Amino acid sequence: MKFIETRGNDGCKKSEVEFSEAILSPSASFGGLYVPSSLPIFDETFLTAHLQSSYKELAKDILKSFEIDIKDEILDKALSRYDEFDDPKNPVPLSKIEDNCFVSELYHGPTRAFKDMALQPFGFVLSALAQEKGENYLIMAATSGDTGPATLETFKNQNNIKVACLYPDGGTSDVQRLQMVTEEAKNLKVIGVHGNFDDTQNTLKALLASQDFKEELQKREIKLSAANSVNFGRIIFQTIYHVSAYIELLKKGEIVMGEEIYLVVPSGNFGNALGGYYAMKAGLPIKKILISSNKNNILTDWIENGVYDLTTRELIQTSSPAMDILKSSNVERILFDKFGATRTKELMELLESKGGYSLTKEELEMLQEDFEATYATDEECSAFIAHYASKDYIIDPHTATCIKAFKEFVPDDAKCVIYSTAEWTKFAPTVAKALGSDEVHGDIEALNFVKNKCGVKVPPMIEKLFEKEIIHSVVVPKIGIKDEILKFL
Ligand SMILES: *Cc1c(COP(=O)(O)O)cnc(C)c1O
Repeated sequence: MKFIETRGNDGCKKSEVEFSEAILSPSASFGGLYVPSSLPIFDETFLTAHLQSSYKELAKDILKSFEIDIKDEILDKALSRYDEFDDPKNPVPLSKIEDNCFVSELYHGPTRAFKDMALQPFGFVLSALAQEKGENYLIMAATSGDTGPATLETFKNQNNIKVACLYPDGGTSDVQRLQMVTEEAKNLKVIGVHGNFDDTQNTLKALLASQDFKEELQKREIKLSAANSVNFGRIIFQTIYHVSAYIELLKKGEIVMGEEIYLVVPSGNFGNALGGYYAMKAGLPIKKILISSNKNNILTDWIENGVYDLTTRELIQTSSPAMDILKSSNVERILFDKFGATRTKELMELLESKGGYSLTKEELEMLQEDFEATYATDEECSAFIAHYASKDYIIDPHTATCIKAFKEFVPDDAKCVIYSTAEWTKFAPTVAKALGSDEVHGDIEALNFVKNKCGVKVPPMIEKLFEKEIIHSVVVPKIGIKDEILKFL
């Protein structure tokens, strides 16, 4: 299958590329993104044929149905990364929390956040392709907490790939920072930056755009790629668990074949929701995808009113930091799928030049055929965390935003799957506070508080973090980033 461009073709780049090209150089003409030119079919026949499949078998068939130009041997090895999850036979468990509500736990990988679902196999594929071509790539990541650890973890000691990871010093949790600064491998560089996440990300963007930096990379024969969800190589692995959740519900006898279910996705850059959208367009019986946000509710506004307006907003810090995002990059792929390349280019240019756009009434109706949206405040999330903890189920603050959408939109006689994007251990201080502790300060005390209060376990990879040696202790002002990276290369 070929991959095409969301903003049309500029006459210089190829207008269609293979999967391998789309993931090695993910930026398309006019700053657009790559999308599949058509979708596979995940209809009842496909679902019936996979009732007995393991997660890896299902994953392989889904990947192959996109007709990607990756050898079987590489796919098999990439998917075997799921063998390192808590339960290799069932890497994404589904828990029932209400008669009609299930939680798909996407956090049972090495860094305890859903980023591992895609980044684990993706990292293997990218490195294998780079080796086949004899090329060297630099992946640069600016992280507010979850992408960084998952990117480092997947690429550590992988040939032909180097990773430079920037985080705002003081802007992540202890667990998230330790996951990065204790990661030891020759091909990884972690740099703390004085400033907040926005400063860090803007510095990275400026560096990526600078001619001078590009020349330095060329001199060293290093190419740039990306591991965030603008890369379709991330999205493809994020279609799988939506199909898997549906099959799990079938196997548990909770739904009958063809019954439409609701999905609730806690969203930031919209990659997770986009995976669900493609699964639905490919035939998976989904009634609606419910997009949940925190107070940075720009997606709620977009789906309720058709308005995407950055000019009236400032980023708010919430207790679900992975969703503290205003420019949500995968919205573009939805625009393209619904309204085509010409309109997508127009809307994305308005977003860049005027800071916003409004959809027409007809366009808004098309969007609302598939999506509904709402948001939860930190106080509401805290109450949801306390409520489910009292029923012996601990959710993290991102997952907690989903409860609001479930209550608001899912009728009693319909089934719903909520995607849980992080384990509570990554956000222990917020969870401890929701459970009534006033005094806990750092992550260790908070982890212990929740552990003792609720009788739950903290997984070894989190407990060990506090004893590991700090490998990366560099913290620099913004202007020092470039030199640090060049030194590393
Ligand atoms: C990345 C992340 C999200 C947002 O996912 P998107 O695909 O960017 O919408 C939500 N929750 C957690 C914990 C995350 O790490």
